[in-house]
Amino acid sequence: MLAEMQKWLLSQADQLRTASPAGRLLLEQVVTSLGVVLVVSPGLRSSGLLTESDGVFTILVREQPRAGSLTQHQRFTIAHEIGHVLLIKKWDFRPPFSNRELYYQAEHLCNSFAGRLLVDPRLLIHQSLTSTFDAISAVCRLADICLVSREFVAREVVLLQPFLTFAQIAQGATEKEWLVEWCVRGDAPLRVARKKILRGESLDQAFMQWRQEVCPENTALLPSKVRLDRAAKRFLLATFQTKNPACMEPGRVEQD
Ligand SMILES: [Zn+2]
Repeated sequence: MLAEMQKWLLSQADQLRTASPAGRLLLEQVVTSLGVVLVVSPGLRSSGLLTESDGVFTILVREQPRAGSLTQHQRFTIAHEIGHVLLIKKWDFRPPFSNRELYYQAEHLCNSFAGRLLVDPRLLIHQSLTSTFDAISAVCRLADICLVSREFVAREVVLLQPFLTFAQIAQGATEKEWLVEWCVRGDAPLRVARKKILRGESLDQAFMQWRQEVCPENTALLPSKVRLDRAAKRFLLATFQTKNPACMEPGRVEQD
C-alpha cells in the first residue's frame, strides 16, 4: 500500500511539474492549480501547517523576515504540505502523531514528493557526473536553479546515481569542532547524520573518521572535496565507490 502511494505521489509530482518550465518550479501556480490557499503567517510557531475547512485546504507557512519572495525553506515546506493534501484527497491518508510509525511514513512520503517536485528531474538526467568535482558542482548548481537545499538535490542525484555518497560538514560551535550536517547515500535513502567530530582533530582526520563511521563496510570509498561557503565554514563532500572505476580520482582534503 505504501509503495503504491509513493509511486502515485511521485507521478503526481511529475505531472504537476510539466505545467512549469524547466528549472525552478512556479510553486505558487501549483498551489493555485490545486485549489489550495497559501498563507504566509508571521506568528506561526512551526515552519508550516496544513488546515482543512469545508474541503478547502490552507497551507500556512512561517514568514521569513526580510525575504521578498519564498525562501528555499518555505518552498520545501509548501511542497511537503502539498504532498499531504494529495495523500488526504486521494487516499484519506492522514495518520495521527500517536501512530508514530505511520505518521513518519507519511512524512517520508511527503519529503520524497517535495524533492521530486522541486528538483527538476529533466535537469538531473543531463548531468554527466564522472568526477567528484562534477558531482559537487552539479548539486550546487541545481540547488541554485531549483531554489532547494543541496541536501535534497543530493538525495535526488543519488536516486539516479547510486554509486555516489554526499555529505556536508560544517564548523560547529568552536573552531576545532566539526559537524556532519547531513549525509546521503545511494543505498540508504536520506540519513541525517548530524554528528560532532572530535575536538582537536584536523579536518583531514575528522573526515577520515566520518567516512569510517558512515561507510564502515566500504573502506574503498575515496574522499574528495571542494571548498564552499568559506565564510560560513561549510563544506560539501562527495565520494564515489570504486566499483565504478571510471569515477575514481585521488582523495583530497584541504584545510584552511
Ligand atoms: Zn508533514
